[in-house]
Amino acid sequence: MNTQLPTLYIVIPCYNEEKVLPITAPLFLAKIQELVSNQQINNQSRILLVDDGSKDSTWKIITELSESDPHYCGIQQSRNRGHQNAVLAGLMTAKDLCDITISIDCDGQDDINAMNEMVAAYKDGCDVVYGVRSARDTDTFFKRFTAQSFYKLLNNLGGEVVYNHADYRLLSSRFLQSFAEYKEVNLFLRGMVPLVGFKSTCVYYKREERMAGESHYPLKKMIGLAVDGITSLSVKPLRLITGFGAVVSLLSFIGIIWVLIGYATGNTINGWASTVCAVFFIGGVQLLSLGIIGEYIGKIYIETKHRPRFIISNKTTNLADNNQNMIG
Ligand code: UDP
Ligand code: MG
Repeated sequence: MNTQLPTLYIVIPCYNEEKVLPITAPLFLAKIQELVSNQQINNQSRILLVDDGSKDSTWKIITELSESDPHYCGIQQSRNRGHQNAVLAGLMTAKDLCDITISIDCDGQDDINAMNEMVAAYKDGCDVVYGVRSARDTDTFFKRFTAQSFYKLLNNLGGEVVYNHADYRLLSSRFLQSFAEYKEVNLFLRGMVPLVGFKSTCVYYKREERMAGESHYPLKKMIGLAVDGITSLSVKPLRLITGFGAVVSLLSFIGIIWVLIGYATGNTINGWASTVCAVFFIGGVQLLSLGIIGEYIGKIYIETKHRPRFIISNKTTNLADNNQNMIG
């Protein structure tokens, strides 16, 4: 009977989380035990904690957890590479060891009870189950506004991103085998997942406050993620520049005719304001356009290097005999 049940790996990125991990890790364990006793998953299921090069005692906590209960295991990245890369390292480690993965942050903000529904959706034939926030009450007005504008902008630019979905999702190992072929270095997982395909569905949950510690996503990083998201999913900004350039050229042409007429009629003294405005305007547009083009060239530059997206430097002993996918 048990062999029919899927093996679940919960993949959890952790960066400097010594404050919150001791609180949330037992909650994940309790969830695994509940799912096992509900006969939704088998007892080979694990909690895979990914230390993203933390500078505090996070890795020590992870190794202690793995010694305290065999359901915990962990990998350590050779340095901090960011949330998306940490999740990828975890998923690539898990993909050959399990049937399904669920990625979730370690701060307790995402409701772990949604996992029951996610696993049920997998049983119904879905390879991808998106965890979607039903409300954003706990966010500040500013975070809510910027996040919603970002989703709208991204979808208008052609990226297929599920509204209000972050990185809480179920992925089957079948999905991950295909996903492993997406070799890009600029990672924006929530935009890449829909590109792979397979049957998907959404599960809704309410997002809470962080249980302890502090957010690693200040405004600067959020803007960085937004720019990366847009430029790695869509080339529409480049086309917008072309369109805008065409409009400005047309206006300039009209302007030139206006200037020539003014010259011919001897009416050329009062031209200072319009000249300065035109210089500022064209200068600004050109700089902005160059910046956008530069953003894409920068991406090409990074991609051509083919640098690894993650390097695993350590594994907990209960994972140590598996030496595949240490670099990817
Ligand atoms: N995280 C990571 N590497 C980083 C930054 C964050 O692995 O460089 C992890 C972090 O430990 C957490 C998750 O990514 O589990 C989400 O981070 P956080 O809660 O700080 O972001 P927020 O929820 O505020 O957007
Ligand atoms: Mg968080």
